[in-house]
Order: sequence, then structure tokens, then C-alpha cells
Amino acid sequence: MSLKVSKRRPLVAQSEIRNMSIECARVGGINLAQGVCDLPVPAPVIRGAEEAMERGSNIYTRFDGRVELRDAIAAKQKRYAGMDVNPEGQVVVSAGATGAFYAACLALLDEGDEVIVFEPYYGYHIVTMASLGIKPVYVTLAPPHWNFTAEDLESKVTARTRAIILNTPSNPAGKVFTRSELQCIADFAEAHDLFVFTDEIYEHFVFDGREHISPATLPGMARRTITISGFSKVFAVTGWRLGYAICDPEWALAIGHFNDLVYVCAPAPLQLGAACGLRELGPDYYQSVSDDHQLKRDLFCSTLKDIGLTPHVPEGAYYTLADVTSLPGGNAKARALFLLERTGVACVPGSAFYEGEVGEGLVRFCFAKEMPVLEDAMARLRRLGE
Ligand code: PLP
Repeated sequence: MSLKVSKRRPLVAQSEIRNMSIECARVGGINLAQGVCDLPVPAPVIRGAEEAMERGSNIYTRFDGRVELRDAIAAKQKRYAGMDVNPEGQVVVSAGATGAFYAACLALLDEGDEVIVFEPYYGYHIVTMASLGIKPVYVTLAPPHWNFTAEDLESKVTARTRAIILNTPSNPAGKVFTRSELQCIADFAEAHDLFVFTDEIYEHFVFDGREHISPATLPGMARRTITISGFSKVFAVTGWRLGYAICDPEWALAIGHFNDLVYVCAPAPLQLGAACGLRELGPDYYQSVSDDHQLKRDLFCSTLKDIGLTPHVPEGAYYTLADVTSLPGGNAKARALFLLERTGVACVPGSAFYEGEVGEGLVRFCFAKEMPVLEDAMARLRRLGE
């Protein structure tokens, strides 16, 4: 037999996050590599899903999701981001934010197109594009400020540039893009007539009184922006696979049709659980979750500082990148494995987020863990200093 798998296969290799999780399980360690938040799922979210199952909402939904969820997403977007969204046409419910991004790439971009991406990046964005023959072109953000200039963006433009991706608050740097940075991106997108993909899955987790600004709310941006988010992080339901895209109705229809083609619809009763959560939970809920992450950020980053792994204190999301150049190994992967062997705590090598050298001196930890787990991880990390 000489059957071969597709040429795309090598492009979707096992991610470094999964590799580290496997290594972590092997040594019985604490997994701070995966971006899974183990906080409890809010009661209205569970109740909404249970009631939906009991009432028989267990069949396919419309390709763009249940109206209850699209309505609740539009209301949330108005309340928290100040965005006017038509739930009938502009919202597409998907299997996770990653599903929304994949369908949006299928619907809006072609093989050979170039897309500007900030690094450190979220790996799924890169692999999704690679699997479709779309070329990422990197603008490097380096610690400690993760700054960029209009010239950095301009220098990356070619005749094939079609889009720019941003993730705010960002994974893994925890960067919250400021209004002036977003204005710079908006001017750039306008000048070169680009799509703007924004991944806002950490929208509610911003620290020290900062504000999350939805890029689509900047003047002129709504018509070119595909706003992507989901419920994995905010309701701690990564396994439910529920996200959404918000954009121009013609694009939303195309995205919805690609979703439909791949998996027909997102899980029906779970859509109603998320809708119930959005309706019943108010600003206090979002604030308390964000405060909890901020408290853990402070504890965790001060532990890292004490053991000589300088953390880059995040402005949002729930990760920290730490400087590990003082550890033996010579590159990020070896340093992450050294840390795991020495302390039993798993992190992700920074090379998983950068094409270039910058990542080799960094590792990423996720601190969104239940307090006893985080305390155990911090105690183990302190062994490094012994
Ligand atoms: N987008 C970013 C930036 C993420 O960090 C993650 C998870 O780590 C996701 C999307 C995944 O979202 P979902 O579970 O909704 O696919």
C-alpha cells in the first residue's frame, strides 16, 4: 500500500503546549502549561444547559446559532464594549473562538495571502493559517514593553497583504492594546484596506484599572473588523467548544456557511447555557473573576521574582512570560524541561510563541488555577532557589 497523508499534515504537528502537558503527566507534575482555568463554572451557565437538555433542545441549531445566544451576545457587546451589533446577521456562533477563526480564514482569505501577526502569538492562529496556505508575516513585540510603531507595520506590507491579526488582552504576553496603539492599527488597516481579525477571548480579564477596548469600536473599524471571542475563558468551559464571530453580515454569512460545512452547528444545549450565563451574570461577576486572576498574578509573579526568574507582569489575560536566561539549557525548550525536572511544574517554552530568538529566553506559565494548586506550584518553584 502506498497511501500518503496530505501535504498539510506536517503543518499541524503536536503543539509545544501538548508536548509539555504530556511530559508533565509523565512526572506527575503541576500543569501550568495549558491555558485551562480550573475555576468553577457559574451556576446559571450549568442550569441553562441542563434545562435546555431537559426541555429537548438537543437538535441541530441554525448554522449561525440559537437566537437566544445571538441576542445575548449582541446585548453583552453593547453593554461592555459599546458596540452596536445586529444579532440577526452579524453574529455567528461557532465551536470555540478557534473554530470562528478557522472559518473566518476559510471564508475571507485565500492561499498565498499574507497576514500581519504580532509575535508573541497564539499558536492556533499561525497553524490555522499555515494549514490553509496563508502566510503569517511577523511584527515582533519584545519585553518588557511589547511596543510597536507604525513603521514596524509599514515595513511588513507587500502586494499580498490582506489582513492583520491582533489579540487583546494577549496570550501569552498579557498585553492590553491601548487606544493609541489601536488607532495606529486602524489607520494602517484603512491605508492598506485590510481585514482586521481581533481575538478578544480574554476581554474581561484586565488588571490595575485598565480598560479593554474592542478594536471594532474605533471610528471606521466596524466595517473591516472580525471580532472573535468565546466562553471558554470567561465561564471556564474550555471543553464546551463555544465561541463566536461578529462582523459585516455578508462575511458573517460566509463564515457561518463554513462552520456549517465542517460541523453543522455548535452544541445546542450548551449554547443555551452560555445565553443564560450572559443574561443572568452582571458586571460584578466579570469583575470578581478578573480580580481573582489579578490576585493570583501578583502572588505568582512575586514568587518568580524571588527565585530569580524575572516575570513580565501581564496587564490582562492569565499568563506570565518569565525570563529564564539564568537557567541551564541554552534554549527555551531545554529550560522548560529543566524546570519541570527540578520543580515538577510545567510551563511552555517561549519558542512556541516566537519565530525568532526572543522566545528562547522566555517561558509561559498559566496562573488561572485554584488557589491550593497554585500554592503547591509556587512552593515547588521555590525549590529552585534552594
Ligand atoms: N484565542 C486565544 C488567544 C486563546 O489563548 C485561546 C485559548 O487558549 C483561544 C482562543 C481558545 O478559544 P476557544 O476555546 O474558544 O477555541
